Amino acid sequence: MAEKQSFIDRSEKVESIVAHIMFCLQCRQYTLKEKCPRCMSVTHDPKPAKYSPEDRYGKYRRMAKMEKINES
Ligand SMILES: [Zn+2]
Repeated sequence: MAEKQSFIDRSEKVESIVAHIMFCLQCRQYTLKEKCPRCMSVTHDPKPAKYSPEDRYGKYRRMAKMEKINES
């Protein structure tokens, strides 16, 4: 469902909920169960990269870039 998609996009806001959500690799669908209600296969903790290190450093990279721009 499209609803699930937007849910992922807003994962920052629903971080606490995401922690309890499991992901079925077979159906590519999120569920709250440890077993997928659809295919009964074991679901996995999606552990979404909350904040990827790249993003974190990207912030500093951008800051450094700004400083350099200001310097020149
Ligand atoms: Zn499934």
